[in-house]
Amino acid sequence: MECNPLPGSVIFNALKDKNCIVMACNTRIIPGITKGIFRAAKDIDSAVMIELAKSESNLEGGYTGLTPADLSMRTCAAAREVGVDVWALHADHIGVKKGTIEELNSVKELITAQIDAGFTSFAIDASHLFNFDGKTAAEELAPNIAATIELARFIRSEVGNSEFGLEAEVGEIGRTDTSGMVLTTPDEAVAFIRSLNDSGVYPQVLAIANGSTHGNIFDENGNPIEQVTIDIPRTKEVANALRENDLDVRIAQHGITGTPRHLISEQFPHGDIIKGNVGTFWMNLVWDVLKEEEPDLYQKIWDWTVTKYAAEGTRDVEVFGKSSKFAVKEFFSELYSLDEGTVSVIEDRACEEASSFMRAFKSEGSAEIVREYMRS
Ligand SMILES: [Zn+2]
Repeated sequence: MECNPLPGSVIFNALKDKNCIVMACNTRIIPGITKGIFRAAKDIDSAVMIELAKSESNLEGGYTGLTPADLSMRTCAAAREVGVDVWALHADHIGVKKGTIEELNSVKELITAQIDAGFTSFAIDASHLFNFDGKTAAEELAPNIAATIELARFIRSEVGNSEFGLEAEVGEIGRTDTSGMVLTTPDEAVAFIRSLNDSGVYPQVLAIANGSTHGNIFDENGNPIEQVTIDIPRTKEVANALRENDLDVRIAQHGITGTPRHLISEQFPHGDIIKGNVGTFWMNLVWDVLKEEEPDLYQKIWDWTVTKYAAEGTRDVEVFGKSSKFAVKEFFSELYSLDEGTVSVIEDRACEEASSFMRAFKSEGSAEIVREYMRS
């Protein structure tokens, strides 16, 4: 069986009208997690994506300590071991924050390394580039559009004849102003995609700002809270506006860690949203297992994080929730040499949780749809 990653575009195009969401998992800690997710995918025959963002994995390792080549090698090994064939390796948040030539050149170096490592899907995120003096949506989005076009063309020129997945981002996820969360409007999404299409750039999925926040979230008293602020009506409006304008793109939902599974299952517009990113959740799962199985290591990770990232007036639980991601690289050798028993507890739990997410995303059987699409 071929267990190499498929082009992201094949998965997106096969599933775009099938009322399901493909889970994309940020596997910051690979032992146990990746195999568990793949086992779930195989059990219920679901397509799945594995991804890390530029901040998490770059040429220096990012905060997970994994270069694109490390991530690819370890993930492909897990795919072969489990025997999973319908998956893609996605570069999440290839962030562009300034849009300068130097920055774009360094981003291109990362993209080249990702392509060389076998990545099959790419998310260009230039949503920070926003012209606040613009009079129209197109003018406001012009710097984002320009950077997205340049990088998409670069990917096209580097991958040769291969197909690849492409995600673009309009509206910075989690951005707030004095009146609260800034949400992407249907007009912005349409203007953005139309400009990209006019330049020959056709993303299959679009990330929008629709009320979610990345990672673990807390109330004003520092208590962990669920992610229930995703604006479903707005998400549907954006998806409908794109359809009505004959723009062939669906929504990628970011920031799902902390979203109750029943809300995903009952309220998410499956088919409008076709990619669902579950990131921090998997790292939280490892911490939970370590707390029980390896309490001494857990305590070291906790102490290191709350000491290094302590902030006046912030409870330790919030400091740990927001900054323990930086402990992944610091404790890399411990995390990658865990006891076999601990890894197997992580793997079983990851499998169970991934399966539960996939059911909420209604993606059981989606792998077969992708296989049929490839045969036709
Ligand atoms: Zn994201």
